[in-house]
Amino acid sequence: MVSQWIVDYLQWVFLLILLLNLAQRRQYETAARKRLATLYIAAGLILFYAVAHLIQLLEAPDWWLLPTGAALVFALTRGESAVRAFRLHCRNCGARLSLASIVYQDSNLCSDCRFGEPPEAPDEEMDNALKD
Ligand SMILES: [Zn+2]
Repeated sequence: MVSQWIVDYLQWVFLLILLLNLAQRRQYETAARKRLATLYIAAGLILFYAVAHLIQLLEAPDWWLLPTGAALVFALTRGESAVRAFRLHCRNCGARLSLASIVYQDSNLCSDCRFGEPPEAPDEEMDNALKD
């Protein structure tokens, strides 16, 4: 049963997203929008979990999850939405972003575009040190 699997395992996904949100808290200057996006995603997962739990309690068929799942996907992916806050590629030059940029940079720019010059690892480390 899909709803049983969701009730058993979705809580761990939820926990991982909340841990990510706590990690983003440390980068509040550059990740405020993405932090809000992870909260929206967590809220959507809680809703999905609640519906799966309700299906288990009522012993209803699993297809009852479909309307909730469709509404959730629609809400999290339309327009400037929660999932779209996380881009895999630089919005300026299209280069693949680092994991830190994907998670912590609201600008969705690679280090080249963000600093306007070729990247040098020590500069980025010093920049991060200055923020702290
Ligand atoms: Zn770029």
